[in-house]
Amino acid sequence: MNPHPRGPAPGEARPHEDPLPGTERALAGALGPTGRPMPEFPEPQPLTSHGPARVIAMCNQKGGVGKTTTTINLGAALAEVGRRVLLVDFDPQGALSVGLGIRTNELDVTIYNLLVERGHDIRGIIQHTRTANLDLVPANIDLAAAEVQLVGEVAREQILARALRPVLDDYDVILIDCQPSLGLLTVNALTAAHGVVIPLECEFFAMRGVALLVETIDKITDRLNPRLRVDGILATMFDSRTLHCREVVRSVVDHFGDQVFHTVISRTVKFPDASLAAEPITTYASAHGSAAAYRQLARELIARGGAA
Ligand code: ADP
Ligand code: MG
Repeated sequence: MNPHPRGPAPGEARPHEDPLPGTERALAGALGPTGRPMPEFPEPQPLTSHGPARVIAMCNQKGGVGKTTTTINLGAALAEVGRRVLLVDFDPQGALSVGLGIRTNELDVTIYNLLVERGHDIRGIIQHTRTANLDLVPANIDLAAAEVQLVGEVAREQILARALRPVLDDYDVILIDCQPSLGLLTVNALTAAHGVVIPLECEFFAMRGVALLVETIDKITDRLNPRLRVDGILATMFDSRTLHCREVVRSVVDHFGDQVFHTVISRTVKFPDASLAAEPITTYASAHGSAAAYRQLARELIARGGAA
């Protein structure tokens, strides 16, 4: 039995949905949606032991590019192949927490308390989600104050790294969902991380701001965190029917080459639907091509050494 049913065959795609090129259906060797031959990514081997976690920051100072969606669904896809995954909501909007069914305004302790007050243990803040192997450090609007409160702290850039340390051995992957800014919270995420994934929306101004993000990553690598690397650039909200979308992806590949994931995430209403249902796409629409795409991204990340 195949545990992960695939999406509909191309002919069956519903009229308003992208036929999802480049995901599971793409033949190895055929050109994928990024215009390069599509490799095959092997099924990940089961892990016999867990940890220490590799920490990945989901980062782009532009809002609405798919950071939160990718954090939830890449996390769920990794959890599905037996990886122990911790998601860290690092955006005061709390969309990651809400997207996993947490009522954020009812929380007594969140990542904010962990950062700003002494004497909290991250284990007391972590919540299990309905998805096996998928845990969450929630956030709410309180976190908005942290940016200002932390400015005067000693080693203010390293506060998140220190807060995560006690649970590094409990997880295989920790994904940090950054807020859309390059402020102190994002600098903390980049300082705590081994890798960065940069989601880019397939639209005309996608690359605007990426130079500044790359410059910030370079500065952090130089000054605070020499191990940091870009794990990959992910094209999101792709629509293969528009020439425009294909051109954007081509120019991103021209610019960033192998850093661009072969996997692209198509635009589909299934994602907002799944967040309304407070579920990852992998359970909300397990057989849909968009779930297959995030499963493929998980395999590609593992194949690149971005996760165990
Ligand atoms: P960010 O965290 O970068 O601000 P989100 O992941 O919250 O971006 O996505 C912004 C909005 O776009 C959300 O409403 C989300 O449901 C929707 N969305 C994300 N990815 C897709 C996609 N591939 N297709 C369609 N809608 C998407
Ligand atoms: Mg977000």
